[in-house]
Amino acid sequence: MNILIMGAAGSGKGTMSKKIVELYDVPHISTGNMFRDAMRAETPLGLQAKKYIDKGLLVPDDITIAMIQERLNQPDCQKGYLLDGYPRTLVQAVAFEDIAKKIGKPVQIVLNLSVELDALIHRVIDRRMCENCKAIFNLEYLPPKVENTCDYCGSTLVHRSDDTLDQLVVRLKEHVFLTKPVLDYYGYKGLVKYVDATKNIDLVWLDVKAALEKVQ
Ligand code: AMP
Repeated sequence: MNILIMGAAGSGKGTMSKKIVELYDVPHISTGNMFRDAMRAETPLGLQAKKYIDKGLLVPDDITIAMIQERLNQPDCQKGYLLDGYPRTLVQAVAFEDIAKKIGKPVQIVLNLSVELDALIHRVIDRRMCENCKAIFNLEYLPPKVENTCDYCGSTLVHRSDDTLDQLVVRLKEHVFLTKPVLDYYGYKGLVKYVDATKNIDLVWLDVKAALEKVQ
């Protein structure tokens, strides 16, 4: 299955992605996680990405496209993919047409998770993430069993450096101006499935699962 998952910061892309890869045998490719791992390892890519991510801005297209092209050419993507957070601009979407064609894996469905602004703010500010297995928690409605510790792998949880109110405002602006046109692009192709992601996780998952079952 070849899936894109889209939505504003805090819409639950990471949480739904974890569930999708448990059910479908496809690699979860999150450009945000790839950048954060590179930042942690202080690679040249990470140092470059940090300049943008810490301001809430998108990493430039040429850097992002090169990274995703390399990743999609790895053998595990022959099974398909779950792309989380890519493409986020029209330039990235057009470049992806070419990448997907070359590996013979065209996009089959674009899941768009939509959440009201109020809920997004709480989700992002109170979000904590496992650096190791990338599980997502929320101090208010999905707290870890042991403070600051991942329920799944026991690693320490972190508060993402871009999960602040100031950065969220910038990220949401970028989302409206740069990423909404990407949704329109896939909308014209009839590939977008809108999911109301304001509901609780189990209900959102039911909708996501139903949408994916229709594709198969
Ligand atoms: P995410 O984890 O998807 O919320 O991404 C975190 C940050 O990584 C974003 O706010 C951007 O700065 C950067 N990023 C992730 N994916 C992309 C992308 N496709 N294009 C440009 N920047 C990205």
